[in-house]
Amino acid sequence: MSEKIFSVECPCGSVMTHDEFTALVVEVQDHAKTNHDMSLTVEDIENMANVQ
Ligand SMILES: [Zn+2]
Repeated sequence: MSEKIFSVECPCGSVMTHDEFTALVVEVQDHAKTNHDMSLTVEDIENMANVQ
């Protein structure tokens, strides 16, 4: 299995994971906007993301 899993742990403790980075970006941006009224850039999320 060479499939990667991308994950981002929000400072609030929520962990979002996805096997496609672009889909993870959408999920994290939506979480940040809905829960924290924050607009994250793709670069912000790249910096927060872990790859497994
Ligand atoms: Zn959060």
